[in-house]
Amino acid sequence: MEDMDFEGSQLDQSTIIEYRDQIHSLQAQLAQMNAIMEKIENGTYGRCDICQKEIAADVLKDQPDRTVCHNHDASNSKLLGLEQTR
Ligand SMILES: [Zn+2]
Repeated sequence: MEDMDFEGSQLDQSTIIEYRDQIHSLQAQLAQMNAIMEKIENGTYGRCDICQKEIAADVLKDQPDRTVCHNHDASNSKLLGLEQTR
Protein backbone atom coordinates (compact mmCIF):
# COMPACT_ATOMS: atom_id res chain seq x y z
CA MET A 1 0.00 0.00 0.00
CA GLU A 2 1.41 3.37 -1.08
CA ASP A 3 -0.70 5.04 1.66
CA MET A 4 1.87 4.09 4.27
CA ASP A 5 4.35 6.62 2.88
CA PHE A 6 4.11 9.42 5.45
CA GLU A 7 6.96 11.37 3.86
CA GLY A 8 4.72 12.26 0.96
CA SER A 9 1.72 12.99 3.16
CA GLN A 10 -0.18 16.27 2.90
CA LEU A 11 -0.31 16.52 6.69
CA ASP A 12 2.11 19.11 7.98
CA GLN A 13 3.61 19.11 11.45
CA SER A 14 1.35 21.84 12.81
CA THR A 15 -1.75 19.88 11.79
CA ILE A 16 -0.43 16.81 13.55
CA ILE A 17 0.32 18.85 16.67
CA GLU A 18 -3.19 20.29 16.56
CA TYR A 19 -4.70 16.80 16.31
CA ARG A 20 -2.52 15.59 19.12
CA ASP A 21 -3.65 18.46 21.36
CA GLN A 22 -7.28 17.73 20.54
CA ILE A 23 -6.78 14.07 21.38
CA HIS A 24 -5.08 14.95 24.65
CA SER A 25 -7.96 17.19 25.64
CA LEU A 26 -10.47 14.46 24.73
CA GLN A 27 -8.48 11.93 26.73
CA ALA A 28 -8.58 14.29 29.71
CA GLN A 29 -12.34 14.65 29.32
CA LEU A 30 -12.73 10.91 29.04
CA ALA A 31 -10.71 10.38 32.20
CA GLN A 32 -12.96 12.87 33.95
CA MET A 33 -16.07 11.07 32.67
CA ASN A 34 -14.69 7.74 33.86
CA ALA A 35 -14.07 9.23 37.28
CA ILE A 36 -17.68 10.45 37.39
CA MET A 37 -18.96 7.03 36.28
CA GLU A 38 -16.95 5.41 39.03
CA LYS A 39 -18.44 7.77 41.59
CA ILE A 40 -21.96 7.09 40.37
CA GLU A 41 -21.33 3.35 40.64
CA ASN A 42 -19.84 3.74 44.12
CA GLY A 43 -22.68 5.99 45.21
CA THR A 44 -20.25 8.80 45.99
CA TYR A 45 -21.23 11.09 43.13
CA GLY A 46 -22.21 14.56 44.30
CA ARG A 47 -20.10 14.32 47.42
CA CYS A 48 -16.96 16.28 48.20
CA ASP A 49 -13.79 14.21 47.75
CA ILE A 50 -12.28 15.86 50.78
CA CYS A 51 -15.01 16.30 53.41
CA GLN A 52 -17.66 13.91 51.96
CA LYS A 53 -20.33 16.60 52.25
CA GLU A 54 -23.02 16.69 49.60
CA ILE A 55 -22.44 19.22 46.84
CA ALA A 56 -25.49 21.41 46.15
CA ALA A 57 -27.64 20.11 43.29
CA ASP A 58 -27.64 23.44 41.47
CA VAL A 59 -23.85 23.48 41.58
CA LEU A 60 -23.71 19.98 40.09
CA LYS A 61 -26.11 21.04 37.38
CA ASP A 62 -23.65 23.77 36.37
CA GLN A 63 -20.55 21.66 36.88
CA PRO A 64 -21.35 17.95 36.62
CA ASP A 65 -17.66 17.10 36.91
CA ARG A 66 -17.27 18.87 40.21
CA THR A 67 -15.75 16.66 42.88
CA VAL A 68 -15.38 19.07 45.78
CA CYS A 69 -17.75 21.26 47.78
CA HIS A 70 -17.58 25.06 47.83
CA ASN A 71 -15.23 24.88 50.83
CA HIS A 72 -12.74 22.92 48.78
CA ASP A 73 -13.20 24.43 45.33
CA ALA A 74 -10.59 25.56 42.78
CA SER A 75 -9.40 28.55 44.82
CA ASN A 76 -8.21 26.13 47.49
CA SER A 77 -7.07 23.32 45.21
CA LYS A 78 -3.50 24.62 44.98
CA LEU A 79 -3.05 23.67 48.60
CA LEU A 80 -4.28 20.18 47.82
CA GLY A 81 -2.09 19.57 44.81
CA LEU A 82 -5.07 19.47 42.46
CA GLU A 83 -4.14 22.57 40.51
CA GLN A 84 -5.07 22.27 36.86
CA THR A 85 -2.74 23.43 34.12
CA ARG A 86 -4.77 25.95 32.17
ZN1 LIG B 1 -15.49 19.66 51.00
